[in-house]
Amino acid sequence: MEKFDVTVIGSGPGGYVAAIRCAQLGFKTALIERYNTLGGTCLNVGCIPSKALLDSSEHYHNASTSFAPHGIEIKGLKVNLPQMIKRKQDVVKQTCDGISFLMKKNKVTVFQGFGSFDSKNTIKVKNEKTENLIKSDKIIIATGSKPFSLPSIAIDKKRIITSTEALELTEVPKHLILVGGGVIGLELGSVYARLGAKITVLEYADSIIPTMDKALGKELQKSLTKLGIEFYLNHKVTGAKASAKEVIVTAENKEGKQLSFNGDYCLVALGRKPYTDNLELEKAGVTKDKSGKIEVNEQLQTNIPNIYAIGDVVKGPMLAHKAEEEGVFVAELLAGQMPHINYNLIPGVVYTWPEVASVGATEEQLKTNGQNFKVGMFPFKASGRARASMDTDGFVKVLAHTDTDEILGVHIIGPRAADMIAEAVVAMEYRASAEDIARICHAHPTFTESLKEACLDATAKRAIHI
Ligand code: FAD
Ligand code: NAD
Repeated sequence: MEKFDVTVIGSGPGGYVAAIRCAQLGFKTALIERYNTLGGTCLNVGCIPSKALLDSSEHYHNASTSFAPHGIEIKGLKVNLPQMIKRKQDVVKQTCDGISFLMKKNKVTVFQGFGSFDSKNTIKVKNEKTENLIKSDKIIIATGSKPFSLPSIAIDKKRIITSTEALELTEVPKHLILVGGGVIGLELGSVYARLGAKITVLEYADSIIPTMDKALGKELQKSLTKLGIEFYLNHKVTGAKASAKEVIVTAENKEGKQLSFNGDYCLVALGRKPYTDNLELEKAGVTKDKSGKIEVNEQLQTNIPNIYAIGDVVKGPMLAHKAEEEGVFVAELLAGQMPHINYNLIPGVVYTWPEVASVGATEEQLKTNGQNFKVGMFPFKASGRARASMDTDGFVKVLAHTDTDEILGVHIIGPRAADMIAEAVVAMEYRASAEDIARICHAHPTFTESLKEACLDATAKRAIHI
C-alpha cells in the first residue's frame, strides 16, 4: 500500500491548489479525482466555461448593438452556436491540461478514480479498471458541490436543466425560464439573452442577487431589462414539468396566486449543495452539519484531527477563490505555519454586463448591526472613460465608518467591476479610510477613478466630477 504525507480528495480549485502548496512545502502528496480531467466544477463546468460563453456572447451582442454607434458597420452577422461551444470546450481543455502539467511539475501523484474512506488513514480509490488502497498521514476533503433542486422539479437534463447542461446547448432556446435570480441564472441567462432567447426570471426574493447590497440588484435589473430579460420577483417556484418540446414551470406570487410559465427550456439555479455522496465518511468518523456540509473548526479541521475539509463542501461562500485560499491555508497549517484568511474580505463577482462586484459589509448588514456609516456614490455616466467606451450603466458605492472613515464595504456595478474590486480589497485589507483612497493618484482616464470619486464623496461629499 503506497503511503503519502497528505492526500487530497477532489481536484477543484480547493483541492488542486492545496495539493500544489503541500508539494511546495515538501509533503509527499496525492490527489484523487473521480473524473478524467482535473480542475473540478470551476474549470470543467463552472467559472471558466461560463466566462468563455459570456465573453463570446458579449462580442456578438456588442457587434449587433454597439458597433454601429462606434462607426463600424457589419452585414450578415450571425451566431454559430456549435463553434461558440467548441471554443468554450477548447478553453476548458487547455485550462484542465494546465492543471495536469502543474501536478507533474510539482510531483503530485494523481489517482484517477472515486475516493472513499476505509478508515481515518486509508482511502480506497476505485475506477473502471482498478481498486487501490492508499495510506495517508493527513487527508484533505475537497469534494465540492452539486446543483440543488426542489423535490417537485425533476432535472431531466434535456428540457429541465442545470448549469452543466446550459453550457452545452445545441440550440439557442426560444424561451428560457430561469428558476432563481441568483448568480448562475443571471450569468447564463445573459448568455442566451444576448444570443436572442426570450428570458424569464422567477425569483423568490424581492430582488435579484438578493444576498448582495440591495442597490446592486436594483441597478442590475434595470440593465438586464434593457437586454430584454423579464423579471418576476416575489415568485416562489413550486414545480416544473417537461414534455418533449416544452416546459411548464409553476410559481406562487406574494398573494398566494398560482401562476404557470411556458417555455422550451428551464434552467434550475437554486443554489448548490455540498457533495459527499459515497465518500463513506462514517468509516473515518467525520461528521456533517444539518445542511450536509462537513463540520470544521476555525482551522478547517474536522472532528477527526488528521482530516481537514475545504471549499464548497464546508461553510462559507461557494466561490473558487475562497476554496483556493482554504487549500493554501490547510497546507501551510500542516507545515507548522500560521496562515490566516480574512473571510470578511472575500470578494463576490457576477459576470453579467455591467459586471457586479462587492466586498465587505452591505448597507443592509450595517443597518442590522446598528453601525454608524456614511455612503459615497459615483455614477459611471460621470466617468470620461465609461463614456468613451459607451459603458455608462452603474455606479460605485462606498460605505465608510462615520467617525473613523474606515472603509466597511465597496459595491460596484459597472464596466470591469470584477477587476476594479481588487483595489477595494487591498485597501480594506490594510484598513484604509475612504480619504486614503481619495488622496491616491489614479490614472486618467480609467474606470478606477470612479472608486476614488466615490471615496471623495464618502469622505466629505467632495467628489470632483458630480
Ligand atoms: P469543486 O470545484 O466542485 O471540485 C470538487 C472535485 O471533487 C470535483 O472534480 C469532483 O469530481 C471531485 N470529487 C468529488 N467527490 C469525489 C470522490 N469521492 N472521489 C474523487 N473525486 C471526487 N466561483 C467563482 O469564484 N467564480 C466564478 O466565476 C464562478 N462561476 C461558476 C459558474 C458555474 C456555472 C458554477 C456551477 C459555479 C461557479 N463558481 C464560481 C463556483 C465554483 O465553481 C466553486 O465554488 C468551486 O469550484 C469550488 O471548488 P471546490 O474545490 O471546493 O470543489
Ligand atoms: P444562488 O444562491 O446565487 O441563487 C439562487 C436564487 O434562487 C436565490 O436568489 C434565491 O432567492 C432563489 N430561490 C430559492 N428558492 C426559490 C424558489 N423556490 N423559487 C424562486 N427562487 C428561489 O445560487 P446559484 O445561482 O444556483 O449559484 C450557486 C452558487 O454557485 C452560488 O452560491 C455561487 O457561490 C456559485 N457561483 C458563483 C459565480 C461567480 O462567482 N460569478 C457564478 C456562478 C455560480
